[in-house]
Amino acid sequence: MNRELFAIFGNPVSHSKSPLMHNISFQGLGFDGCYTKYLLQDGKKLKKTFLDLGLKGINITVPHKEHAYNACDILDPFARKVGAVNTIVEKDGKLYGYNTDAPGFLKAISEFKDINTVLFLGAGGTAQSTSKILKDEGYEVILLNRSKGRLEKFKENGFETYTFENFISKKYDLVINVTSAGLEDDSLPAPLEILKQVIPTAKACVDVIYGKETPFLKLAKSYAKPTKDGSDMLLYQGITAFEHFTAHLYTFEEIEHYMKKAFAL
Ligand code: NDP
Repeated sequence: MNRELFAIFGNPVSHSKSPLMHNISFQGLGFDGCYTKYLLQDGKKLKKTFLDLGLKGINITVPHKEHAYNACDILDPFARKVGAVNTIVEKDGKLYGYNTDAPGFLKAISEFKDINTVLFLGAGGTAQSTSKILKDEGYEVILLNRSKGRLEKFKENGFETYTFENFISKKYDLVINVTSAGLEDDSLPAPLEILKQVIPTAKACVDVIYGKETPFLKLAKSYAKPTKDGSDMLLYQGITAFEHFTAHLYTFEEIEHYMKKAFAL
């Protein structure tokens, strides 16, 4: 078998941990693969770039997940439902698209027990797939977003939605930051007075941002709440992508054993 080539497409992409995660796993499992980063500026060129580079598979990050969806010949049913693809694999000249963010997120929050109601702070692309999978699993999901525009789609799909202006606080078991607030600045995902209403009664607080303690998680900790950042979500979405890349040659646990090492470096 010839060496198979993989990449992450995004803009920006230089910060991505994915090459490390996948290359450590290829090496550990003895799979002849190589994974790199590709700065893709124009999302419309995703398919041509993939084919020109002779790739076997890619992951897609911000802001190209919708372009990735449109580039696929065949879509996994869940990716079709949420309209976002973060993993593509080439098989017999056709591009197959998957969404591994959402199952990764679901597994990452599974450690929190007796959770029924979940408040999402944010309504972007990541909220779209992760809220859908939680709803399918029977959780009650409520969305609170800074502005109205992105909430429309959620409302059409039967979610309870609020902006900061019309928010009526209830008790939520889990409060999750799915905004990019705190990623590159010190901002909170919602006004402090709202967070002071929803955090104290929550069982736990989660952030999808990884690699730093965000102001949101700091605030949650000041209320002695159990917290979790986005590292496990990143790990689990990567393991599921790796399963697709390697045609399910390895078990989840075998891949996890190696991929986890990327987080200790
Ligand atoms: P989008 O650009 O699609 O959406 C951004 C969301 O954040 C919008 O709801 C936006 O609100 C809100 N927002 C941005 N800045 C602020 C602010 N200062 N205050 C309040 N709300 C704000 O981003 P994604 O959904 O793709 O990504 C969201 C986060 O998820 C990112 O931080 C990303 O790094 C992280 N992520 C983590 C993953 C992991 O594996 N751990 C995987 C994928 C994403 P508005 O509509 O008003 O603009």
